[in-house]
Amino acid sequence: MNVASSIPDNMKPALLLIDVQNDYLVQKGLMPRSDVLIKKIERLLYGCRELDIPVFHVRTRIRRDGSDRMPHWKRNNTLICVEDTAGAMSPESLRPENPELLFYKQYFSAFGNPLLDAALREYRIDTLIVSGLHLHGCVRAAALDAYERGYEVWVADDAVGSYDPGHAEITRTYLNGRAAEFISTYDLLLRLGHNSPLKQHAPMAEVLPVASIGGKWFDATTHECFKRRNPCDWGEIIASIPLARESEVEQACITAADIQRSWKESHPVDRLQILEAWAEALRRREQELARLIVREVGKPIADAREEVRRAIMLIHAVSELFDKQLIQNVSGDGSFVLFRACPLGVIGLITPWNNPVAIPVGKIAPALAYGNAVVWKPAIEAPRTAMLVIEALSETGCSSGLVNLVFGDAATARLIPENQEVAAVSLTGSIETGKSIAAQCTRLGKPLQAELGGNNAAIVLRDCDVHEYATSMALSAFSFSGQRCTRIQRFIVERSILGEFQRAFVAAVKSLRIGDPLDESASLGPLVSREHHQWIRSLVDGAVNEGAQILCGGETPDQPERGCWMNPVVIGAVTVDSRLAQEEVFGPVAVILPADDIGQAIKIANGVKHGLLTALYTKDEAHQARIVREVETGILNLSARPLNVHPAAPFGGWKASGLGPPEHGRWDRQFYSRAQALYTGEGLIDR
Ligand code: NAD
Repeated sequence: MNVASSIPDNMKPALLLIDVQNDYLVQKGLMPRSDVLIKKIERLLYGCRELDIPVFHVRTRIRRDGSDRMPHWKRNNTLICVEDTAGAMSPESLRPENPELLFYKQYFSAFGNPLLDAALREYRIDTLIVSGLHLHGCVRAAALDAYERGYEVWVADDAVGSYDPGHAEITRTYLNGRAAEFISTYDLLLRLGHNSPLKQHAPMAEVLPVASIGGKWFDATTHECFKRRNPCDWGEIIASIPLARESEVEQACITAADIQRSWKESHPVDRLQILEAWAEALRRREQELARLIVREVGKPIADAREEVRRAIMLIHAVSELFDKQLIQNVSGDGSFVLFRACPLGVIGLITPWNNPVAIPVGKIAPALAYGNAVVWKPAIEAPRTAMLVIEALSETGCSSGLVNLVFGDAATARLIPENQEVAAVSLTGSIETGKSIAAQCTRLGKPLQAELGGNNAAIVLRDCDVHEYATSMALSAFSFSGQRCTRIQRFIVERSILGEFQRAFVAAVKSLRIGDPLDESASLGPLVSREHHQWIRSLVDGAVNEGAQILCGGETPDQPERGCWMNPVVIGAVTVDSRLAQEEVFGPVAVILPADDIGQAIKIANGVKHGLLTALYTKDEAHQARIVREVETGILNLSARPLNVHPAAPFGGWKASGLGPPEHGRWDRQFYSRAQALYTGEGLIDR
């Protein structure tokens, strides 16, 4: 199909697709995730084809014996992208079509193959649109070489991937404005004159507003939209959500900054009263919010209701624990040196889909209490839930625009730290997202608080009555289909009770109810999306191919085409360094790892990059004390029950699971205010 285009006559662009190969796409930690990246590249590729823009494909190809690989691949024993293997191919939707040309290389730059430059010259190409993998490696090398050869270079910002977010961020900063310009696929296609870059492949659902700024909802008619599907019935689109662009983010930040100037002068007691009114407004909407959470993310209704209650408790905890003494004399020796807790200004908040009420409320409440204003980018999977949270706040009489919301994806989120009005960022999300935003905030010199993924372990010692605790353990692994950051993924079991544990645990898991999340007795609903379902499926299949043993589950219940259902999977015979033991699955999969004794169990528990939570099942006090001393996680659960997060306790991951101070309780002050020392030489300033 040809679409109308207005490419200037004096410009001859081409699309260069670099290393879009299966072996690279399955690499650990790829950002964006391969399914998302493939979709973005597809849109760019199809858009370019529709505009008759020539496409050049470049792939890495290594001989079967590996003799022509790069020396560091030889040193590391890396043998991928081998000729005639599936790993060396591109996914089917991204393969060259006649008459597109395909070039091979062994090193980083596509221009390492001189035939590429010759072909580009033959086509009189002057502008290269670059997309593919990896931004920090081959994309970077090709962009620099193209620039040196006189091409104008545009990198499709959302259609490039990397497994090294920090390095990718540096590359983006380095290239942008020097050798290349980074532009989103949507803007690229618009710039090339594509008249329908938002092509609709599915029926439109109700289009939601793009932002709430200064208390007003804004519509967007020309924006790219994300279509949210019903996790219980994937064919149904439940909302179309426009992705906010720089202008909306900018407007939200300026509005927040304006309002914050008067908000910070208000009395803390008045601020806390507003928060209490918000808690009450949320309480009145408990049922409505819970039902929205069920509809949008498929969380079982009892858990959804529990989440709304937790959000309300978090607000109460802010009121109760807020230290109203924002000014204190700290010298203690008669001189007057005061400590002042001052607001930071505008806080950018970026939140995930799995707790679409409690996580944002747990950030917004302390931000406002300490005199800040907020720009919030909620998870796009739960847009109406976010709208209701804002609606409840608007009833409290607080100034409109204290909390501004922008809908969007990762690209929208990345605009928030960049805005000069934003003083600090708080994120909850995956480790990869955390690394990416950390690199951005480091470059910008802005504080970041990040609560990130976990790969939590339960240590089960031989004195544990596994029959008594099996149901509790099953729930701690599988409720909400394992889509909780505090869920248990790894069960480390003392070898002498391994068989007994497996039998009791598997029986308990099989008795969990999976079904309609509106059903009060369901413990597991669907997974959040088809993409997430496929990702978990591929992890399980990969483990089985490597010899892991499925002890139960794994089969997809009836009517898989309608929803994202997966029965809970328990896996044995995995090794501690296998992918399933090392990576956060964030789904209904648990692995069992045997240990000879408590020492080895602690070593296995600590042997991952994550450090969020460890649970212990033993009554032995000496063992409990040892766990407290040696386990490296921000949360320890010795209660032998599924974790019930207390609103006054610090919540934060150690190691790769968190950055900056923990959330909640007294710890909020560390992030949402900054300390000022004031030498007065007189008496205390009254406040
Ligand atoms: P995610 O990291 O994909 O997304 C979280 C938020 O970050 C979303 O709003 C998303 O749009 C945004 N985002 C994604 N990529 C980004 C980027 N490169 N730059 C800026 N923003 C980006 O996570 P998710 O799938 O929404 O949630 C699941 C993850 O969140 C899991 O890893 C889970 O463990 C973690 N999580 C952690 C906690 C905690 O408190 N430790 C709580 C809940 C969830």
